[in-house]
Amino acid sequence: MTTDTRTLAHPIHVVGAGLAGSECAYQLASRGQRVVLWEMRPDRSTPAHSTPDFAELVCSNSLRSDDPHHAAGLLKREMEAFGSLIIGAAREAAVPAGSALAVDRDLFAASVTKTLEEHPKIEIRRTEVVDFPEGKVVMATGPLTSEALATRLGDLLGSEYLYFYDAIAPIVEADSLDYDILFRASRYGKGGDDYLNAPMTKEQYDHFYDELVKATVLELRDFEQNLFFEGCLPIEEIARRGRETLCFGPMKPVGLTPPDGSRPWAVVQLRQENLAQTHYNLVGFQSRMSWGEQKRVLRLIPGLGSAEFVRLGQIHRNTFINSPTHLDKHYRLKSEPRLRLAGQITGVEGYLESAATGLLNALYLSLEASSSSAPEPLPANTALGALARHLTETPAKRFQPANINYGLFEPLGLRIKKRERRAAYAQRAQQELVSWASRAGFDITLAPFQTQDAPLEAASGATASSANHSS
Ligand SMILES: Cc1cc2nc3c(=O)[nH]c(=O)nc-3n(C[C@H](O)[C@H](O)[C@H](O)COP(=O)(O)OP(=O)(O)OC[C@H]3O[C@@H](n4cnc5c(N)ncnc54)[C@H](O)[C@@H]3O)c2cc1C
Repeated sequence: MTTDTRTLAHPIHVVGAGLAGSECAYQLASRGQRVVLWEMRPDRSTPAHSTPDFAELVCSNSLRSDDPHHAAGLLKREMEAFGSLIIGAAREAAVPAGSALAVDRDLFAASVTKTLEEHPKIEIRRTEVVDFPEGKVVMATGPLTSEALATRLGDLLGSEYLYFYDAIAPIVEADSLDYDILFRASRYGKGGDDYLNAPMTKEQYDHFYDELVKATVLELRDFEQNLFFEGCLPIEEIARRGRETLCFGPMKPVGLTPPDGSRPWAVVQLRQENLAQTHYNLVGFQSRMSWGEQKRVLRLIPGLGSAEFVRLGQIHRNTFINSPTHLDKHYRLKSEPRLRLAGQITGVEGYLESAATGLLNALYLSLEASSSSAPEPLPANTALGALARHLTETPAKRFQPANINYGLFEPLGLRIKKRERRAAYAQRAQQELVSWASRAGFDITLAPFQTQDAPLEAASGATASSANHSS
């Protein structure tokens, strides 16, 4: 398959060099397309970004599970099959995090930035885009899209934006923690001793809880009420649902036994932030408490009495469109197909998923460049395809952002024991990915993987190499 020279003459514009835009630009460029990559930072930033780097992770440093049978682990492997920049950089910058793939955020973003800056097919323009450039455009400006471009998109779609509010978790200095109180462990021993854990007795928990629920929070305006996404609720919102609710959520003690063998009433987990091990984040402790209150309340956690905060929790806007109404199966705007959307603004949730939509946009664009017929959509039984299907086939009224999970896939249609079900989903996905890639002409290799539950013979090390797309 050869790339159409007319397309080569006109670059593809990728707006926003976050997780989705970086992946998209890299995929396009490595398949021979010229790309103009627009990024407004550092001249203009967002309320959450703090560096000029591309693919900055604004909150947690985790790209979720790396278990090949977990839907997030499967999605990573599908992306790697196409030579994903984001997953490759994440593996290079990985820090210990049990079965999750977590990264040193500075190393990770620096590596992505360098790769893109040095790519001969990519021209970088560091300026805010306020209107869509001519030609083919991938808008990947994220949940904090600048006001001017968000308004322009709103004008174009002719319908109201959807949005809700998210909160981000605090980060503490490692040398301000009390290691006589904290203990190292991963839940149920999965992944060694990667987390620091702060155990609480019932008395300590009750005191913490009482102070948490009475802490001052930043007020939301009337129209902002009830807009939090369930998967990223502020800690104080969870607490308000009941005294014990936190013990079944971010403070659950199960699978975490302190060295003295005691059974804590609740446990706060801290995850390593950087390779130098100088920073830790409080897992699941997103918050919209005022900053003074955060310091006061979080220092009640055993081991954090003298904690120094590198970053405190914040709330932020999250903009996304109603994708089932506005996007076709190829991430194009139905009303203006030269414009495509990628990343969180499409209504996927998370770093990994955002990058995945950038990758799939690039695959479809490169197929379009080499054929006049519309590309065959990726099967909904693959992780990449399941995300796309969620965005385009969910009834518009019910549409909500989603992480990748097996609930988005076609059911298996077989009676399979629960413990083997995830392996079966992964196996089917890999087989369908390989056969789609072969039909589409992509040259991919899936890393072989063995599962705990069942060997994936058919998919292990599978390849589709019938044509000349490089990855
Ligand atoms: C505060 C916050 C916390 C989050 N926490 C997590 C988390 O812990 N884990 C997780 O998985 N996900 C989290 N998310 C959700 C989501 O995964 C991230 O926002 C992710 O970065 C989305 O990727 P993206 O590529 O769509 O957008 P981004 O990564 O935000 O990239 C968009 C880029 O576009 C640029 N841009 C915006 N407007 C313009 C313009 N007009 N012109 C030029 N450039 C522009 C921005 O500067 C930015 O670099 C969080 C989101 C926010 C906002």
